[in-house]
Amino acid sequence: MSILDIFETMEYGPAPEAAAPALAWLKERQPLRLFINNQWVAPSSGQYIESVNPADGKTLVQIAAGNSADVDMAVEAARTAFETWSKTPGHVRARYLYAIARHIQKHSRLLAVLESLDNGKSIRETRDLDIPLVARHFYYHAGWAQLMASGLPGYEPVGVVGQIIPWNFPLLMLAWKIAPALAMGNTVVLKPARYTSLTALKFAEIVQEIGLPPGVVNIVTGEASQVGEALVRHPDVNKIAFTGSTDVGRSIRRATAGSGKKLSLELGGKSPFIVFDDADLDSVVEGVVDAIWFNQGEVCCAGSRLLMQENIAEQLVSKLRVRMERLRVGNPLDKAIDMGAIVSPGQLTDIQRLVELGVAEGAEMWQPSWACPTEGYFYPPTLFTNVSPATSIAQVEIFGPVLVSMTFRTPAEAVALANNTRYGLAASVWSENINLALDIAPKLKAGSVWINSTNLFDASSGFGGYRESGYGREGGKEGLYEYVRPAWKIHTAPVSTPPFAQFPIANGSTTLFNENTSLLDRDVEDDIFASMPTTNGATASFPSIDRTPKLFIKGKQVRPDSGYSRDVYGPKGQTIGQVGEGNRKDIRNAVEAAHAASGWVSGTAHNRAQILYYMAENLAVREEEFARSIVQQTGRPYADALNEVQIALSRLFSYAAWTDKYEGTVHKPPMRGVVLALPEAIGVMGIVCPDEYPLLGFVSLFAPAIAMGNTIIIIPSEQSPLSATDLYQVLETSDLPAGVINIVTGEREPLCQVLADHDDVDAVWYFGTAEGSKRVELASAGNMKRTWVNYGHTRDWLDTVQSEGQEFLREATQVKNIWVPYGE
Ligand code: NDP
Repeated sequence: MSILDIFETMEYGPAPEAAAPALAWLKERQPLRLFINNQWVAPSSGQYIESVNPADGKTLVQIAAGNSADVDMAVEAARTAFETWSKTPGHVRARYLYAIARHIQKHSRLLAVLESLDNGKSIRETRDLDIPLVARHFYYHAGWAQLMASGLPGYEPVGVVGQIIPWNFPLLMLAWKIAPALAMGNTVVLKPARYTSLTALKFAEIVQEIGLPPGVVNIVTGEASQVGEALVRHPDVNKIAFTGSTDVGRSIRRATAGSGKKLSLELGGKSPFIVFDDADLDSVVEGVVDAIWFNQGEVCCAGSRLLMQENIAEQLVSKLRVRMERLRVGNPLDKAIDMGAIVSPGQLTDIQRLVELGVAEGAEMWQPSWACPTEGYFYPPTLFTNVSPATSIAQVEIFGPVLVSMTFRTPAEAVALANNTRYGLAASVWSENINLALDIAPKLKAGSVWINSTNLFDASSGFGGYRESGYGREGGKEGLYEYVRPAWKIHTAPVSTPPFAQFPIANGSTTLFNENTSLLDRDVEDDIFASMPTTNGATASFPSIDRTPKLFIKGKQVRPDSGYSRDVYGPKGQTIGQVGEGNRKDIRNAVEAAHAASGWVSGTAHNRAQILYYMAENLAVREEEFARSIVQQTGRPYADALNEVQIALSRLFSYAAWTDKYEGTVHKPPMRGVVLALPEAIGVMGIVCPDEYPLLGFVSLFAPAIAMGNTIIIIPSEQSPLSATDLYQVLETSDLPAGVINIVTGEREPLCQVLADHDDVDAVWYFGTAEGSKRVELASAGNMKRTWVNYGHTRDWLDTVQSEGQEFLREATQVKNIWVPYGE
């Protein structure tokens, strides 16, 4: 027999990992209870549910079926623990996290086997990937606990965090959530997925072992309808961190709307795997194996859409089929298998149903010739060719080992095809031409882009989605902000401001008008205008009603679609002007204009900075005029109004400065290569301005948004819109491209609703009432747009700490991590 013959016929013998220690561990603890306040607690219901091994369908153990009473108990324990844990020095928290990491390593084999038994994934992956990454997360975040005071000055923990995790990477998702939460001084109630709770309960033992204070970590197992929903709705939970399906993410967004709970959502995906014709096709084949057959394809960022340049498609498909024929599906504890079992019969049925749908839709399905084990829930690797981009299998997340392939001709077509889903979690780009790969990466709507690689993860590099893949990041410094809030925010009061209430003003006094006074006292009015400079020596007075600005859309002043104008009143209740009454159609036109201005983001940051400086310059020459307009609209003293204009000017300068300095980071994860973490524009944003500080509020919001490359539709203060409309000429003379800023005046809440409902708006910022904030968050669930609302709380717009800088820039961007491995 020749070596070639041996190579061809050689079979792997079985190399099973022993299950006995893990099974003994389970038997000793049967049934597994809830972990609350460092105690093992029987569920209030007295009920237990079965945890099944998907590789053979047999029951492994009974786990507690928690309910809302258990969640109440866990939240109470976490709240009590928060009092001390949040004040525990960073160094002490770091030592606890370090101890957790060490103990994960000590128990790594037990954890890996338990995970394989519980989820059905291969021991090769749990042992070599999941568990080492879990330990790495705790080490990395031990570092951030140590550095929090210096690395995130002015930030405080959020409070009690409810965390809900899925079944596909049970312990890894736990680590991604618990490590940053604890590092930043929060306490946690975590709900594991019903199918895969075992490693979370082993983790609870580690928590006990290292002596973490009681109540810092609580784990409540059970059904979504009993535990998950109770956690989401609990009034004493300050943040929800969720990973799972987009549908559940959407329902959590709705359930928490208006509650003020922080929310991060890591949802589904349909990630493109793009292969250009100069790629190394043998590496591509291995890449595809890792992209879609890793973890049985039950991976949110799985490269499930193979996009091939047309001229290499046939060759690549035939190479793939050869490789698929060699993949091994079987006992997850066998170290030589490639794919284990599907997590549950329900998931298996879903996969089968979608594959049948793909065939019915006319795509060509191919599977290897061998059969899967029949005991347990197995599914073979599957490849679809001849797939049309609009069909279900090209659009729906299958969450199984099913790859759909399509072809493209040009790089532009590849980008269009890649972005043609509602998701935006990850993407892979394969080309030996680094210029091409790095040109494509920023054009992809995805939180992670892997160049000539796939499914790489590290604690230092944030992970999370664009669009309906959710928002928020896990890992990296950006992930920490999900678990903190600015210290000043803890003490702000809700806004209760009828028109012309007493806003704080620069010199520490308040406005001249109290909320019950709509008419100016004559003497007071005289005093104000006596103090105002005039341009031509004439006595200052209210001008007659000749101010009728239109809307500002696509760089032009346009009449409102309604044909109506609305009166603008001064502090005496007198009419001081009229503005266009914008409506739904105007907002739609403005959204279209904002989309058409996409050249803004692809232009240089230097160019954006120049335009912001130019705006400031043009505003500076008219500062007295703007100050007089503010006095006229608000009745505040002239000196105060001038101060507002000058702060607005300074703010324009600040964001012009930030434009080419808010730039991201280069990470060095433990591999040969770098990760470029780039803050990117979110896209088209809707912005709703506060009534306080008509000019400053407006400038403070539009400037950071456009500085970062977004294009916007902005609704100025409903009460005092003239400062925004006065800016039309400044915008027109500052070289701002048409459509970057679109201004629609009118009634704030209905206009805002159109923005929040709009599927082509990527984010909404809202500064208004508590009810309005809730409406925005509710409506945002439609396309899972990002929101930033004030829940009716005040912000001091004069104060640079509260109203300028990095918080605004973070809200105006989303971080994309581009992985660039190197070396031959
Ligand atoms: P779900 O989104 O239903 O479950 C994820 C987690 O959320 C589980 O802990 C689940 O609990 C819990 N949960 C479910 N409903 C609610 C709710 N209303 N309120 C609070 N918590 C809730 O995912 P599935 O397990 O049902 O999987 C369905 C599909 O979701 C998959 O086919 C896949 O497409 C996608 N998915 C995506 C994941 C990702 O990583 N992005 C991970 C898992 C699934 P319980 O386990 O008790 O139901």
